[in-house]
Amino acid sequence: MLISKKVQEMQPSGIRAFFDLVLGMKDVISLGVGEPDFVTPWAIREAGISSLEQGLTSYTSNKGLYKLRLSVSRYLKNRFGVEYCPDEEILITVGVSEAMDLCLRTIINTNDKILIPSPCYVSYGPLTALAGGLPVYIDTQKDGFKLTPKNLEKHIDNKVKGIIFNYPCNPTGVSYSRKELSEINKILSKHKIICLSDEIYGDLTYDFEHVAFPSLTGAKERTVYFNGFSKSYAMTGWRVGYVCGPKDIIAGMTKIHQYTIMCVSITSQMAACEALHSGKKSVDEMKREYRRRREFIIDGLNDIGLTCHKPQGAFYAFPSIKKTGLNSLDFAQKLLQEEKVAVVPGTAFGDDFKDYIRISYASSMDNLKEALVRINNFISKRKR
Ligand code: PLP
Repeated sequence: MLISKKVQEMQPSGIRAFFDLVLGMKDVISLGVGEPDFVTPWAIREAGISSLEQGLTSYTSNKGLYKLRLSVSRYLKNRFGVEYCPDEEILITVGVSEAMDLCLRTIINTNDKILIPSPCYVSYGPLTALAGGLPVYIDTQKDGFKLTPKNLEKHIDNKVKGIIFNYPCNPTGVSYSRKELSEINKILSKHKIICLSDEIYGDLTYDFEHVAFPSLTGAKERTVYFNGFSKSYAMTGWRVGYVCGPKDIIAGMTKIHQYTIMCVSITSQMAACEALHSGKKSVDEMKREYRRRREFIIDGLNDIGLTCHKPQGAFYAFPSIKKTGLNSLDFAQKLLQEEKVAVVPGTAFGDDFKDYIRISYASSMDNLKEALVRINNFISKRKR
């Protein structure tokens, strides 16, 4: 057989599959792909351009430029009080995407279980399976999409090696207080479970300060912390992120990274240095705008009858479409055909979420206003 069993069994991303449809259509308002509608702030772009002008076109150290690792280390110390050694505990990667793949391949032995609270980001399950592990989804629906200590305990047995914990969460926007995180940490600690903490939206938390998982008492030695530049600095196309964790895990990940990737593009790394150096003001401005849009879209969705909890971070709304009687795939397909608004079916984030859709509010206020009118038309037509 030409294609391996593992790859044959893998489903293509429900987001991408849907958006191939959108590409061929005109005048669509796309609230689909999870990508900032801002361009990378100018100072960061300029740092990339300047690095090219200086002729910086070589490979870097496999782990990434030392000065970027040092900047990451300082940022995490200043922001969360967590100390990571730039030499041994930090690796610069091609986004969180690469880092997650490396980490799963580094820690998983065949048939180890990895817990994944769901709905969840599309890559976690397939990457776990590709690394030989067994994804175990924890449905969080009945608890307002929050992982509770009780629900977590229920899924733990001696085969569980790790958990992929993402907050603020894509697709629900749910986040956690220090107290809630501490309770989860206690359980993980008791069962010696590694926490793969995907905090890529950590800078986009609206109602309270984001708490980094490794900053919790005793958590750092069992936590792998993932972050990157894609979302908060509007740098998706630069493909740069970082991962911090215990030195043995980082060393294992670096081995795979050096054979597969070698290093992240030096231009992107130079731009990322500038992001950490001067980008905070731009991040705060973009965050203010997302927050304004959040108020608008959540109120608007609830007003037209699509019940939606208020997301605490990221830039997604995850409303229930149950009242319409349509399942999420039908809803998304018909909405696209009839009203030219693209949203993602909830089932892209887990089989159990056919009563939901994901709407990204990383789109202009004008787009959001028009999209709400169109969604309202779509629902009203069905009530008649
Ligand atoms: N993790 C989450 C939760 C995401 O939503 C995304 C992108 O949508 C990623 C990781 C991938 O990010 P990156 O661009 O850093 O690879």
